[in-house]
Amino acid sequence: MAQMNPANRLLTGDLRIMNQTEMIIEPARETAVLGEFEVVVLGGGPAGIAAATAAAAAGRSTILVEAYGFLGGMGTAAGVTNFCGLHANVHGEIRQVVHGVADRLLERMRQLGGLNEPHVIFGGRIAAQAYDNSAFKVAADGLVTASGARLLFHAQAAGVMMRSPNEIDALLIETKSGRRAIRGRVYIDASGDGDLAAYAGAPFEKGTDGDSMLYPSTMFRVNGVDAERAGDAWNHFGRWMEEAERKGRIFPRKTPIIRPQKNPMEWRANVTQIANPDGTPVDCTDAEQLSWAEVEGRRQIVDFFQFLRESAPGFENAYILEIAPQVGVRETRRVVGDYQLTEDDVLSCASFDDTIGVNGWMIEAHVAGDILFKWQDIPASRGFNHLPYRMILPKRVDNLLVVGRCASMTHMGQSAARVSGACFVMGQAAGTAADLSLRAGSHPRDLDVPLLQQALERDGAYLGR
Ligand SMILES: Cc1cc2nc3c(=O)[nH]c(=O)nc-3n(C[C@H](O)[C@H](O)[C@H](O)COP(=O)(O)OP(=O)(O)OC[C@H]3O[C@@H](n4cnc5c(N)ncnc54)[C@H](O)[C@@H]3O)c2cc1C
Repeated sequence: MAQMNPANRLLTGDLRIMNQTEMIIEPARETAVLGEFEVVVLGGGPAGIAAATAAAAAGRSTILVEAYGFLGGMGTAAGVTNFCGLHANVHGEIRQVVHGVADRLLERMRQLGGLNEPHVIFGGRIAAQAYDNSAFKVAADGLVTASGARLLFHAQAAGVMMRSPNEIDALLIETKSGRRAIRGRVYIDASGDGDLAAYAGAPFEKGTDGDSMLYPSTMFRVNGVDAERAGDAWNHFGRWMEEAERKGRIFPRKTPIIRPQKNPMEWRANVTQIANPDGTPVDCTDAEQLSWAEVEGRRQIVDFFQFLRESAPGFENAYILEIAPQVGVRETRRVVGDYQLTEDDVLSCASFDDTIGVNGWMIEAHVAGDILFKWQDIPASRGFNHLPYRMILPKRVDNLLVVGRCASMTHMGQSAARVSGACFVMGQAAGTAADLSLRAGSHPRDLDVPLLQQALERDGAYLGR
């Protein structure tokens, strides 16, 4: 039986999602300890992949817990299939500015034949890099397991035990084998939704006033496109939609993003926008709203696909290859840390002494009915901002780092640094910081930051200095 420290608190109530008033009392129970690890990472998206890989490669016993049976997070489960934020427009020259663990992942994807060359977008202002979903999954499996980290799939975090008000003792998970506890020394929340941080009592924000988060979208891919006839259709979809709207068709969102994949017969479409019936963005930490969103996303896709076949040359014989397994979530909880990255930091290409890497993506806010873009001063500026170590240090919980789209950023700052490039940066920094703080016998907050920066640079990361 696991030793129960009297100071332990079982925290699950923070994530109560439905407004039910009737409650039942569950009897106390014993929970088997699955294992004890130096580093426990929750969530296998870009941030969690980098975090677990960095911690395990530094020699730390590490477990990565993931609800799905594959890695990639929104990058695979939401069908994103495209890396943004790996590049920046540095005084007019588009350069890859995220390296380290990300390079090792990209190389594995390239070897699998599943990585496109970067494609320049927005009139030459920035580049993104498309990939095949399966290549990301397989490359991430290989990268994480080769680092020595243990993978636990199909495991849903369900709560934490606290050993003191500020320290997590164990992560509680639900698996096919039943409920388990995982003991750790340093925890990394890479769940995208800040689930672990919320269970542990860290403060968080959502949107600007609690209900104006970025809108989610369900992605889909089509196959059977006549690539020659489709040509550069990505430049014309917006105009074709406007023409259709004049004839009475209604689209939930302007500014479609529809691009070919590696095989030019296959295109991915990022065109939906999922609102509640009252028009507010779906809160993807609310199980009922999330369920509505899944149905609504697929409904919008069927509707848009009909428009594609009717209106876009080359798409007449296309078919829906895949609707992503889940709605694509852009923003839920943003866990408040020692510093919140802001819109101004992004637009002014801010520098920080405690830089752990850089973000070169612009402000990309999915607002009601459209996308709002705001750019760094390109090409006059260097085109990227530093990401400070303080943005992954949550308030109130000492043995926790929070990385990825749920890290400490304002609503608008997050609209930029939520993309994959910055998530890889934060994840690698957290995994490395976990190792160094364990070595120093201190909490991540007390880490000697220059030591962390040296370690990151030694492992190939670019800190923008
Ligand atoms: C529609 C859409 C299009 C986008 N387009 C792009 C793009 O073109 N390029 C780009 O770079 N970015 C894009 N993004 C943003 C980007 O994909 C995400 O912000 C990024 O994946 C975030 O990475 P992350 O590791 O922080 O979290 P996520 O990718 O969200 O990964 C979190 C992981 O944690 C797991 N998890 C969560 N809670 C639990 C739990 N309680 N228990 C167990 N596991 C859990 C999830 O299953 C998931 O695998 C897009 C996002 C959306 C929604």
